[in-house]
Order: sequence, then structure tokens, then C-alpha cells
Amino acid sequence: MAVIALNPGHYPGFDPGSVGSTGLEEATVTMAVAKIAESVLRENGHSVVFISENELDIIADDANLVEADVFVSVHCNAADNVEAQGTETWCYEYSEQGYRLAQEIQRELVDALQRPNRGIRYSAGLYVLKHTFMPAALAELAFISNPEEERLLADPLCQEQAGLAIARGIEAWLNDI
Ligand SMILES: [Zn+2]
Repeated sequence: MAVIALNPGHYPGFDPGSVGSTGLEEATVTMAVAKIAESVLRENGHSVVFISENELDIIADDANLVEADVFVSVHCNAADNVEAQGTETWCYEYSEQGYRLAQEIQRELVDALQRPNRGIRYSAGLYVLKHTFMPAALAELAFISNPEEERLLADPLCQEQAGLAIARGIEAWLNDI
């Protein structure tokens, strides 16, 4: 069994993240999705550390302090172009295991949400990917700035599918290492 650090991106009340045209806040979506992933992973016997914090350095420190085996942050994407759409997952540029983790999560999310596959994105600078010591991935579920995807992100069934998909992706990665 693993120690899994889950971070719902942004922080309700302080940092809503991106906001859709209906007023849907990213932080609301990421909280719902991360909580579903948390409950499934707990049921599967893992120790889940749920890190809902406003400060990026605290998020990374918390994951490092508990020596998590894996770190996953959940976000919604946004763009000025309202037609931008699809699912992508980020990993730290220099982490082979982070890349494999991102691949598993991306595959499950695309399968569950049926949005265009924008693939794996590499970052050398995203704070929570760079400063966590364990393999880490950051999932951008879909675009909250796209009205069609905002509707999906607001749907509790879709949120559940996304949470289950993230849990499956983490399990697939754990089974593979
Ligand atoms: Zn975000």
C-alpha cells in the first residue's frame, strides 16, 4: 500500500482558480474530483494525504514531510480562446517516473471524459512538480473557459468519473513500479 498525496488545485474562499462563464470556480471542481479520488484510494487500502492549501510551498512541503510515494494535483485549464478544449497532464521535465505517472492518469482521464487528448506536457518550472521529491503529476481535466467543458466540469457525474479515473491512473502506475 502506498502513501498518496492528493492536492485539489487552488483553495475555495481564497483562490478560486479560473472561473467559467457561469461562475463555476476551478477550486470547487478540483475539490469534488480530488475527494472522490481520495475515497476510492482509501477504500483500496492506501494512506491518502489530502493537501488542500493556499500556498504552493506548503503543498510541496506537506507532501515531502509525509514522504508520499506519489503526488497528484488536480486542476482545470483555462484560455482566452473559448474554443480551447481537451485534457492534458503535466509532469516534471526531468522525472521519468513522473512522466509514466502522468501517462497513466492522462490515459484514464481521456477515456473517462472523452475530451480531446492534448497529451503529456513537460514543465521544468511548475512549483508543485519541481519541489516535490516523489513522482508527481498535475492533471488539467478540461477547460473551464470552454462553455461545453464547463458544463461537464460542473456535472457531479462527470466529477465522479474524473475522480475515479485519477484513482485508476495512480493504481496503474503503482502496479507498474
Ligand atoms: Zn489551476
